[in-house]
Amino acid sequence: MSPKNVVNPAALAEEFIQDEIHERTHDRHVWMLRVKRDKAALGIPEWEELRELASQIKEHALTHLDQYLEQFEANARKRGAHVHWARDAAEHNAIVYEILRSHGVRDLIKAKSMLQEECVMTPFLETRGIRVTETDLGERIQQLDQQVPSHIVLPAIHKTRQDIARLFAQAIGSDPNNDAPHYLVEAMRKDIRAKFLAAGAGMTGANFAVAETGSFVVCTNEGNADLGTALPPLHIASIGIEKIIPKVEHLAVFIRLLSRNATGAPITQYTSHFTGPRKGGEMHIVLVDNGRSQRLGLEDFWRSLKCIRCGACMNTCPVFRRSGGLAYGATYAGPIGVILDPTFDDKKYSELPYHSTLCGSCSAVCPVKIDISEQIMKWRRVMAAKGYMPLVKRTALRLAGKVFGSPVIFRGLAALGEGFLKYIPDFLLYQDKLNPWGRHRDMPEVPKQTFREWYRKERGNHASKKS
Ligand code: SF4
Repeated sequence: MSPKNVVNPAALAEEFIQDEIHERTHDRHVWMLRVKRDKAALGIPEWEELRELASQIKEHALTHLDQYLEQFEANARKRGAHVHWARDAAEHNAIVYEILRSHGVRDLIKAKSMLQEECVMTPFLETRGIRVTETDLGERIQQLDQQVPSHIVLPAIHKTRQDIARLFAQAIGSDPNNDAPHYLVEAMRKDIRAKFLAAGAGMTGANFAVAETGSFVVCTNEGNADLGTALPPLHIASIGIEKIIPKVEHLAVFIRLLSRNATGAPITQYTSHFTGPRKGGEMHIVLVDNGRSQRLGLEDFWRSLKCIRCGACMNTCPVFRRSGGLAYGATYAGPIGVILDPTFDDKKYSELPYHSTLCGSCSAVCPVKIDISEQIMKWRRVMAAKGYMPLVKRTALRLAGKVFGSPVIFRGLAALGEGFLKYIPDFLLYQDKLNPWGRHRDMPEVPKQTFREWYRKERGNHASKKS
Protein backbone atom coordinates (compact mmCIF):
# COMPACT_ATOMS: atom_id res chain seq x y z
CA MET A 1 0.00 0.00 0.00
CA SER A 2 1.40 3.40 -0.95
CA PRO A 3 1.24 6.40 1.36
CA LYS A 4 -1.33 9.08 0.54
CA ASN A 5 -0.33 11.42 -2.31
CA VAL A 6 2.15 8.88 -3.65
CA VAL A 7 1.24 7.42 -7.03
CA ASN A 8 0.86 3.66 -6.79
CA PRO A 9 1.58 2.28 -10.29
CA ALA A 10 0.98 -1.32 -9.23
CA ALA A 11 -2.56 -0.55 -8.08
CA LEU A 12 -3.30 1.48 -11.22
CA ALA A 13 -1.90 -1.31 -13.41
CA GLU A 14 -4.10 -3.79 -11.55
CA GLU A 15 -7.14 -1.77 -12.67
CA PHE A 16 -6.00 -1.85 -16.30
CA ILE A 17 -5.26 -5.56 -16.43
CA GLN A 18 -8.63 -6.46 -14.90
CA ASP A 19 -9.83 -6.43 -18.47
CA GLU A 20 -7.82 -9.04 -20.33
CA ILE A 21 -8.92 -7.80 -23.75
CA HIS A 22 -7.49 -4.36 -23.06
CA GLU A 23 -4.29 -5.78 -21.67
CA ARG A 24 -3.76 -8.11 -24.63
CA THR A 25 -4.74 -5.57 -27.29
CA HIS A 26 -2.52 -2.90 -25.78
CA ASP A 27 0.44 -5.25 -25.60
CA ARG A 28 -0.07 -6.38 -29.20
CA HIS A 29 -0.54 -2.91 -30.69
CA VAL A 30 2.36 -1.35 -28.86
CA TRP A 31 4.69 -4.24 -29.66
CA MET A 32 3.70 -3.97 -33.34
CA LEU A 33 5.16 -0.44 -33.29
CA ARG A 34 8.40 -1.78 -31.88
CA VAL A 35 8.59 -4.38 -34.67
CA LYS A 36 7.94 -1.72 -37.33
CA ARG A 37 10.57 0.50 -35.73
CA ASP A 38 13.15 -2.29 -35.98
CA LYS A 39 12.38 -2.86 -39.65
CA ALA A 40 12.68 0.86 -40.39
CA ALA A 41 15.97 1.11 -38.49
CA LEU A 42 17.39 -1.89 -40.35
CA GLY A 43 16.58 -0.14 -43.63
CA ILE A 44 19.04 2.67 -42.84
CA PRO A 45 22.63 1.40 -42.91
CA GLU A 46 23.93 4.46 -41.05
CA TRP A 47 21.27 4.18 -38.30
CA GLU A 48 23.76 3.93 -35.44
CA GLU A 49 25.76 6.89 -36.78
CA LEU A 50 22.54 8.90 -36.92
CA ARG A 51 21.76 8.04 -33.30
CA GLU A 52 25.24 9.06 -32.25
CA LEU A 53 25.00 12.32 -34.18
CA ALA A 54 21.56 13.10 -32.73
CA SER A 55 22.88 12.46 -29.24
CA GLN A 56 25.87 14.74 -29.81
CA ILE A 57 23.78 17.57 -31.29
CA LYS A 58 21.42 17.45 -28.32
CA GLU A 59 24.28 17.36 -25.82
CA HIS A 60 25.90 20.31 -27.53
CA ALA A 61 22.63 22.31 -27.62
CA LEU A 62 21.87 21.57 -23.97
CA THR A 63 25.34 22.53 -22.81
CA HIS A 64 25.08 25.85 -24.71
CA LEU A 65 21.40 26.38 -24.06
CA ASP A 66 21.60 30.00 -22.85
CA GLN A 67 23.34 31.06 -26.04
CA TYR A 68 20.97 29.20 -28.40
CA LEU A 69 17.85 30.34 -26.60
CA GLU A 70 18.87 33.98 -26.96
CA GLN A 71 19.72 33.42 -30.61
CA PHE A 72 16.34 31.77 -31.16
CA GLU A 73 14.50 34.61 -29.43
CA ALA A 74 16.30 37.31 -31.44
CA ASN A 75 15.65 35.56 -34.76
CA ALA A 76 12.00 34.77 -33.94
CA ARG A 77 11.41 38.43 -33.08
CA LYS A 78 13.11 39.49 -36.32
CA ARG A 79 10.59 37.30 -38.18
CA GLY A 80 7.71 39.07 -36.46
CA ALA A 81 6.82 36.65 -33.64
CA HIS A 82 6.17 37.82 -30.07
CA VAL A 83 8.34 35.82 -27.66
CA HIS A 84 7.40 35.24 -24.00
CA TRP A 85 9.30 33.45 -21.26
CA ALA A 86 7.52 31.28 -18.68
CA ARG A 87 9.35 30.16 -15.56
CA ASP A 88 6.76 27.50 -14.74
CA ALA A 89 3.38 26.03 -15.67
CA ALA A 90 1.47 28.78 -13.84
CA GLU A 91 3.28 31.49 -15.79
CA HIS A 92 2.76 29.64 -19.07
CA ASN A 93 -0.97 29.33 -18.48
CA ALA A 94 -1.29 32.95 -17.36
CA ILE A 95 0.56 34.19 -20.47
CA VAL A 96 -1.59 32.09 -22.81
CA TYR A 97 -4.79 33.20 -21.08
CA GLU A 98 -3.80 36.86 -21.24
CA ILE A 99 -3.10 36.62 -24.99
CA LEU A 100 -6.47 34.96 -25.59
CA ARG A 101 -8.34 37.37 -23.30
CA SER A 102 -6.81 40.46 -24.88
CA HIS A 103 -7.82 39.19 -28.34
CA GLY A 104 -11.35 38.35 -27.20
CA VAL A 105 -10.90 34.65 -28.02
CA ARG A 106 -13.56 32.28 -26.61
CA ASP A 107 -12.84 29.23 -28.82
CA LEU A 108 -9.42 27.69 -29.04
CA ILE A 109 -8.31 24.76 -31.16
CA LYS A 110 -5.08 23.02 -30.37
CA ALA A 111 -2.73 20.40 -31.74
CA LYS A 112 -1.14 17.79 -29.47
CA SER A 113 1.38 19.15 -27.00
CA MET A 114 2.77 17.20 -24.05
CA LEU A 115 4.08 20.47 -22.63
CA GLN A 116 0.56 21.90 -22.49
CA GLU A 117 -0.50 18.65 -20.76
CA GLU A 118 2.38 19.09 -18.32
CA CYS A 119 1.11 22.63 -17.55
CA VAL A 120 -2.47 21.33 -17.13
CA MET A 121 -3.41 24.18 -19.44
CA THR A 122 -6.82 23.06 -20.75
CA PRO A 123 -8.62 22.94 -17.36
CA PHE A 124 -7.01 26.28 -16.48
CA LEU A 125 -8.42 27.93 -19.61
CA GLU A 126 -11.79 26.21 -19.39
CA THR A 127 -12.44 27.49 -15.88
CA ARG A 128 -11.89 30.98 -17.33
CA GLY A 129 -14.49 30.55 -20.02
CA ILE A 130 -12.36 29.48 -23.00
CA ARG A 131 -13.68 26.48 -24.95
CA VAL A 132 -10.71 24.27 -25.83
CA THR A 133 -10.86 21.60 -28.54
CA GLU A 134 -8.14 19.04 -29.11
CA THR A 135 -7.76 18.39 -32.84
CA ASP A 136 -5.40 15.41 -32.84
CA LEU A 137 -7.70 12.37 -33.06
CA GLY A 138 -6.16 10.48 -30.13
CA GLU A 139 -6.10 13.59 -27.96
CA ARG A 140 -9.71 14.39 -28.86
CA ILE A 141 -10.73 10.86 -27.86
CA GLN A 142 -9.02 11.34 -24.51
CA GLN A 143 -10.54 14.77 -24.05
CA LEU A 144 -14.05 13.44 -24.69
CA ASP A 145 -13.38 10.63 -22.22
CA GLN A 146 -11.94 13.09 -19.68
CA GLN A 147 -8.69 11.16 -19.49
CA VAL A 148 -5.10 12.29 -19.90
CA PRO A 149 -3.04 10.77 -22.75
CA SER A 150 -1.67 7.31 -21.99
CA HIS A 151 1.16 7.48 -24.56
CA ILE A 152 3.13 10.49 -25.80
CA VAL A 153 2.65 9.63 -29.48
CA LEU A 154 -0.62 7.65 -29.42
CA PRO A 155 -2.67 9.13 -26.59
CA ALA A 156 -5.58 6.66 -26.84
CA ILE A 157 -3.63 3.48 -27.68
CA HIS A 158 -5.07 1.77 -24.57
CA LYS A 159 -8.58 1.92 -26.03
CA THR A 160 -10.16 -0.57 -28.43
CA ARG A 161 -12.20 0.38 -31.48
CA GLN A 162 -15.31 -0.69 -29.60
CA ASP A 163 -14.46 1.70 -26.73
CA ILE A 164 -14.15 4.54 -29.22
CA ALA A 165 -17.40 3.68 -31.02
CA ARG A 166 -19.24 3.77 -27.68
CA LEU A 167 -17.58 7.03 -26.67
CA PHE A 168 -18.30 8.75 -29.99
CA ALA A 169 -21.92 7.57 -29.88
CA GLN A 170 -22.37 9.31 -26.53
CA ALA A 171 -20.33 12.40 -27.34
CA ILE A 172 -21.09 13.14 -30.98
CA GLY A 173 -24.06 10.91 -31.76
CA SER A 174 -22.40 8.43 -34.14
CA ASP A 175 -23.55 4.82 -34.55
CA PRO A 176 -22.47 2.82 -31.46
CA ASN A 177 -22.43 -0.41 -33.48
CA ASN A 178 -20.13 0.83 -36.21
CA ASP A 179 -16.51 0.60 -35.10
CA ALA A 180 -14.93 0.70 -38.56
CA PRO A 181 -11.92 3.06 -38.34
CA HIS A 182 -12.93 4.91 -41.50
CA TYR A 183 -16.44 5.55 -40.18
CA LEU A 184 -15.16 6.74 -36.77
CA VAL A 185 -12.59 9.08 -38.29
CA GLU A 186 -15.17 10.51 -40.70
CA ALA A 187 -17.64 11.07 -37.84
CA MET A 188 -15.01 12.98 -35.89
CA ARG A 189 -13.90 14.94 -38.95
CA LYS A 190 -17.47 16.17 -39.49
CA ASP A 191 -17.89 17.06 -35.82
CA ILE A 192 -14.64 18.93 -35.47
CA ARG A 193 -14.72 20.89 -38.73
CA ALA A 194 -17.15 23.48 -37.31
CA LYS A 195 -14.85 23.99 -34.33
CA PHE A 196 -11.92 24.75 -36.63
CA LEU A 197 -14.03 27.36 -38.40
CA ALA A 198 -15.28 28.97 -35.17
CA ALA A 199 -11.91 29.19 -33.42
CA GLY A 200 -10.33 32.55 -32.66
CA ALA A 201 -6.90 31.04 -32.05
CA GLY A 202 -4.90 27.91 -32.75
CA MET A 203 -2.24 26.45 -30.48
CA THR A 204 0.60 24.08 -31.17
CA GLY A 205 3.63 22.75 -29.40
CA ALA A 206 6.88 22.20 -31.27
CA ASN A 207 9.09 19.22 -31.94
CA PHE A 208 12.15 21.35 -32.67
CA ALA A 209 13.03 25.05 -32.44
CA VAL A 210 15.88 26.19 -34.66
CA ALA A 211 18.15 28.86 -33.15
CA GLU A 212 19.70 30.12 -36.40
CA THR A 213 16.32 30.93 -38.01
CA GLY A 214 13.95 31.51 -35.09
CA SER A 215 11.57 28.99 -36.66
CA PHE A 216 10.03 25.88 -35.17
CA VAL A 217 8.87 22.58 -36.57
CA VAL A 218 5.70 20.63 -35.78
CA CYS A 219 5.39 17.01 -36.93
CA THR A 220 1.89 15.53 -37.26
CA ASN A 221 0.17 12.83 -39.25
CA GLU A 222 -3.25 14.41 -39.47
CA GLY A 223 -2.53 17.94 -40.73
CA ASN A 224 -4.50 19.29 -37.79
CA ALA A 225 -1.71 21.63 -36.69
CA ASP A 226 -1.60 23.14 -40.18
CA LEU A 227 -5.34 23.68 -40.45
CA GLY A 228 -5.48 24.92 -36.86
CA THR A 229 -2.88 27.59 -37.58
CA ALA A 230 -4.05 28.45 -41.11
CA LEU A 231 -7.67 29.30 -40.25
CA PRO A 232 -7.62 31.48 -37.10
CA PRO A 233 -5.58 34.70 -37.20
CA LEU A 234 -3.77 34.00 -33.93
CA HIS A 235 -1.17 31.24 -33.41
CA ILE A 236 0.31 30.51 -29.98
CA ALA A 237 3.09 27.94 -29.67
CA SER A 238 4.29 26.49 -26.34
CA ILE A 239 7.91 25.37 -26.60
CA GLY A 240 9.96 23.68 -23.89
CA ILE A 241 13.41 25.26 -23.72
CA GLU A 242 15.04 21.87 -24.37
CA LYS A 243 13.59 21.75 -27.89
CA ILE A 244 16.27 24.09 -29.25
CA ILE A 245 18.66 22.82 -31.90
CA PRO A 246 21.36 25.07 -33.35
CA LYS A 247 20.91 24.81 -37.13
CA VAL A 248 18.43 23.85 -39.85
CA GLU A 249 20.87 21.23 -41.15
CA HIS A 250 20.54 19.39 -37.80
CA LEU A 251 16.85 18.87 -38.46
CA ALA A 252 17.64 16.29 -41.13
CA VAL A 253 19.18 14.01 -38.51
CA PHE A 254 16.19 14.20 -36.18
CA ILE A 255 13.53 14.02 -38.87
CA ARG A 256 15.08 10.81 -40.21
CA LEU A 257 15.05 9.29 -36.73
CA LEU A 258 11.82 10.56 -35.21
CA SER A 259 8.98 8.89 -37.08
CA ARG A 260 10.97 5.78 -37.95
CA ASN A 261 11.68 5.27 -34.28
CA ALA A 262 8.14 6.17 -33.23
CA THR A 263 5.96 4.18 -35.63
CA GLY A 264 8.26 2.75 -38.29
CA ALA A 265 7.01 5.29 -40.87
CA PRO A 266 9.81 6.93 -42.91
CA ILE A 267 8.42 10.40 -42.20
CA THR A 268 5.42 12.02 -40.55
CA GLN A 269 2.73 13.06 -43.05
CA TYR A 270 3.29 16.72 -42.20
CA THR A 271 6.57 18.28 -41.12
CA SER A 272 5.56 21.93 -40.88
CA HIS A 273 8.03 24.76 -40.46
CA PHE A 274 6.70 27.95 -38.84
CA THR A 275 8.84 31.01 -39.41
CA GLY A 276 7.07 34.12 -38.14
CA PRO A 277 3.33 34.79 -38.41
CA ARG A 278 1.47 34.14 -41.64
CA LYS A 279 0.37 37.16 -43.68
CA GLY A 280 -2.20 39.14 -41.68
CA GLY A 281 -1.80 36.87 -38.65
CA GLU A 282 -0.14 37.09 -35.25
CA MET A 283 2.25 34.60 -33.69
CA HIS A 284 3.18 34.22 -30.02
CA ILE A 285 5.87 31.84 -28.83
CA VAL A 286 5.96 30.90 -25.14
CA LEU A 287 9.34 29.46 -24.11
CA VAL A 288 8.75 27.33 -21.04
CA ASP A 289 11.19 26.23 -18.36
CA ASN A 290 8.98 24.47 -15.78
CA GLY A 291 11.84 22.69 -14.02
CA ARG A 292 14.04 22.13 -17.06
CA SER A 293 16.94 24.36 -15.99
CA GLN A 294 16.89 22.69 -12.60
CA ARG A 295 17.00 19.28 -14.32
CA LEU A 296 19.90 20.49 -16.43
CA GLY A 297 21.85 20.87 -13.19
CA LEU A 298 21.24 17.29 -12.07
CA GLU A 299 24.44 15.40 -12.75
CA ASP A 300 22.73 12.01 -13.07
CA PHE A 301 19.54 13.06 -14.83
CA TRP A 302 20.19 16.02 -17.16
CA ARG A 303 20.51 13.79 -20.23
CA SER A 304 16.77 13.07 -20.02
CA LEU A 305 16.40 16.55 -21.60
CA LYS A 306 17.66 15.11 -24.89
CA CYS A 307 14.34 13.28 -25.35
CA ILE A 308 12.60 13.93 -28.70
CA ARG A 309 9.37 12.24 -27.52
CA CYS A 310 9.34 9.42 -30.03
CA GLY A 311 7.70 6.99 -27.58
CA ALA A 312 9.91 4.04 -28.59
CA CYS A 313 11.02 3.40 -25.00
CA MET A 314 7.34 2.92 -24.12
CA ASN A 315 6.69 0.59 -27.04
CA THR A 316 9.52 -1.70 -26.11
CA CYS A 317 9.00 -1.69 -22.34
CA PRO A 318 7.52 -4.99 -21.07
CA VAL A 319 6.02 -3.19 -18.07
CA PHE A 320 4.42 -0.35 -20.06
CA ARG A 321 2.99 -2.78 -22.58
CA ARG A 322 1.12 -4.69 -19.86
CA SER A 323 0.27 -1.94 -17.41
CA GLY A 324 -0.89 0.71 -19.89
CA GLY A 325 0.22 4.33 -19.69
CA LEU A 326 -2.41 5.52 -17.22
CA ALA A 327 -0.78 3.31 -14.56
CA TYR A 328 2.04 5.85 -14.24
CA GLY A 329 -0.41 8.44 -12.87
CA ALA A 330 1.63 11.23 -14.45
CA THR A 331 1.94 13.33 -17.62
CA TYR A 332 4.77 11.19 -18.96
CA ALA A 333 4.36 7.40 -18.92
CA GLY A 334 6.75 4.58 -19.74
CA PRO A 335 10.50 4.58 -19.13
CA ILE A 336 10.90 8.25 -20.10
CA GLY A 337 8.15 9.07 -17.60
CA VAL A 338 9.91 7.09 -14.89
CA ILE A 339 12.96 9.35 -15.22
CA LEU A 340 11.14 12.64 -15.91
CA ASP A 341 8.22 12.58 -13.50
CA PRO A 342 10.29 12.47 -10.28
CA THR A 343 12.02 15.69 -11.37
CA PHE A 344 8.64 17.41 -10.89
CA ASP A 345 7.85 15.78 -7.52
CA ASP A 346 10.18 13.07 -6.25
CA LYS A 347 7.96 12.02 -3.35
CA LYS A 348 4.74 11.78 -5.37
CA TYR A 349 6.47 9.68 -8.05
CA SER A 350 8.79 7.79 -5.70
CA GLU A 351 7.36 4.39 -6.70
CA LEU A 352 7.71 4.88 -10.45
CA PRO A 353 11.37 3.75 -10.64
CA TYR A 354 10.21 0.30 -9.47
CA HIS A 355 7.76 0.09 -12.38
CA SER A 356 10.55 -1.31 -14.53
CA THR A 357 12.37 -4.58 -15.08
CA LEU A 358 15.67 -2.75 -15.76
CA CYS A 359 16.03 -4.94 -18.85
CA GLY A 360 17.68 -2.04 -20.72
CA SER A 361 15.53 -2.32 -23.84
CA CYS A 362 14.51 1.36 -23.50
CA SER A 363 18.13 2.55 -23.63
CA ALA A 364 18.78 0.29 -26.62
CA VAL A 365 16.03 1.85 -28.78
CA CYS A 366 16.41 5.49 -27.75
CA PRO A 367 17.31 7.54 -30.84
CA VAL A 368 19.27 10.08 -28.80
CA LYS A 369 21.01 7.46 -26.66
CA ILE A 370 19.61 8.46 -23.29
CA ASP A 371 20.87 6.08 -20.59
CA ILE A 372 17.27 5.49 -19.47
CA SER A 373 17.63 2.25 -17.53
CA GLU A 374 20.77 3.51 -15.77
CA GLN A 375 18.84 6.62 -14.72
CA ILE A 376 15.96 4.47 -13.45
CA MET A 377 18.46 2.63 -11.24
CA LYS A 378 19.87 5.94 -10.03
CA TRP A 379 16.37 7.17 -9.17
CA ARG A 380 15.92 4.06 -7.03
CA ARG A 381 19.02 5.05 -5.10
CA VAL A 382 17.68 8.59 -4.66
CA MET A 383 14.33 7.28 -3.38
CA ALA A 384 16.04 4.93 -0.94
CA ALA A 385 18.39 7.66 0.31
CA LYS A 386 15.44 10.03 0.84
CA GLY A 387 13.62 7.36 2.85
CA TYR A 388 10.73 7.16 0.37
CA MET A 389 10.94 3.40 0.01
CA PRO A 390 8.01 1.67 1.81
CA LEU A 391 9.00 -0.18 4.99
CA VAL A 392 8.09 -3.62 3.60
CA LYS A 393 10.26 -3.13 0.52
CA ARG A 394 13.10 -1.66 2.57
CA THR A 395 13.06 -4.61 4.97
CA ALA A 396 12.78 -7.15 2.15
CA LEU A 397 15.74 -5.63 0.30
CA ARG A 398 17.84 -5.51 3.47
CA LEU A 399 17.12 -9.20 4.04
CA ALA A 400 17.89 -9.98 0.41
CA GLY A 401 21.21 -8.15 0.78
CA LYS A 402 22.10 -10.31 3.77
CA VAL A 403 21.11 -13.53 1.99
CA PHE A 404 23.03 -12.76 -1.21
CA GLY A 405 25.98 -11.47 0.77
CA SER A 406 26.52 -14.74 2.62
CA PRO A 407 27.11 -18.04 0.74
CA VAL A 408 26.25 -20.01 3.89
CA ILE A 409 22.85 -18.37 4.40
CA PHE A 410 22.18 -18.47 0.65
CA ARG A 411 22.88 -22.22 0.42
CA GLY A 412 20.83 -22.96 3.52
CA LEU A 413 17.83 -20.98 2.28
CA ALA A 414 18.09 -22.42 -1.25
CA ALA A 415 17.87 -25.94 0.19
CA LEU A 416 14.96 -24.92 2.39
CA GLY A 417 13.15 -23.26 -0.53
CA GLU A 418 13.62 -26.36 -2.64
CA GLY A 419 11.94 -28.54 -0.03
CA PHE A 420 9.26 -25.94 0.50
CA LEU A 421 8.35 -25.78 -3.19
CA LYS A 422 8.41 -29.57 -3.57
CA TYR A 423 6.19 -30.51 -0.67
CA ILE A 424 3.92 -27.58 0.12
CA PRO A 425 0.33 -28.20 -1.05
CA ASP A 426 -0.98 -26.01 -3.88
CA PHE A 427 -3.74 -24.38 -1.83
CA LEU A 428 -1.03 -22.91 0.41
CA LEU A 429 1.47 -22.19 -2.33
CA TYR A 430 -1.08 -20.20 -4.32
CA GLN A 431 -2.66 -18.51 -1.33
CA ASP A 432 -3.54 -15.11 -2.75
CA LYS A 433 -2.10 -12.91 -0.03
CA LEU A 434 1.09 -14.93 0.42
CA ASN A 435 1.81 -15.26 -3.26
CA PRO A 436 0.13 -12.64 -5.49
CA TRP A 437 2.74 -13.51 -8.16
CA GLY A 438 1.09 -16.91 -8.50
CA ARG A 439 -2.30 -15.40 -9.34
CA HIS A 440 -1.60 -15.54 -13.06
CA ARG A 441 1.39 -17.85 -13.21
CA ASP A 442 2.53 -21.31 -12.20
CA MET A 443 5.50 -21.47 -9.87
CA PRO A 444 8.59 -22.82 -11.66
CA GLU A 445 9.28 -26.52 -11.30
CA VAL A 446 12.06 -27.32 -8.87
CA PRO A 447 15.04 -28.54 -10.93
CA LYS A 448 16.43 -31.98 -10.14
CA GLN A 449 19.81 -30.45 -9.55
CA THR A 450 20.92 -26.99 -8.46
CA PHE A 451 23.53 -25.12 -10.47
CA ARG A 452 26.02 -25.59 -7.65
CA GLU A 453 25.45 -29.37 -7.63
CA TRP A 454 25.83 -29.49 -11.41
CA TYR A 455 29.00 -27.41 -11.26
CA ARG A 456 30.53 -29.59 -8.56
CA LYS A 457 29.70 -32.72 -10.52
CA GLU A 458 31.05 -31.39 -13.80
CA ARG A 459 34.11 -29.58 -12.51
CA GLY A 460 34.95 -31.54 -9.38
CA ASN A 461 35.51 -29.93 -6.01
CA HIS A 462 37.39 -26.99 -7.47
CA ALA A 463 34.40 -24.63 -7.10
CA SER A 464 33.51 -25.56 -3.54
CA LYS A 465 37.12 -25.16 -2.40
CA LYS A 466 37.18 -21.65 -3.83
CA SER A 467 33.89 -20.59 -2.26
S1 SF4 B 1 13.57 8.70 -24.02
FE1 SF4 B 1 14.35 8.22 -26.06
S2 SF4 B 1 13.08 6.48 -26.73
FE2 SF4 B 1 11.98 7.45 -25.00
S3 SF4 B 1 10.59 8.92 -25.92
FE3 SF4 B 1 12.47 10.03 -25.45
S4 SF4 B 1 13.69 9.94 -27.34
FE4 SF4 B 1 12.10 8.36 -27.51
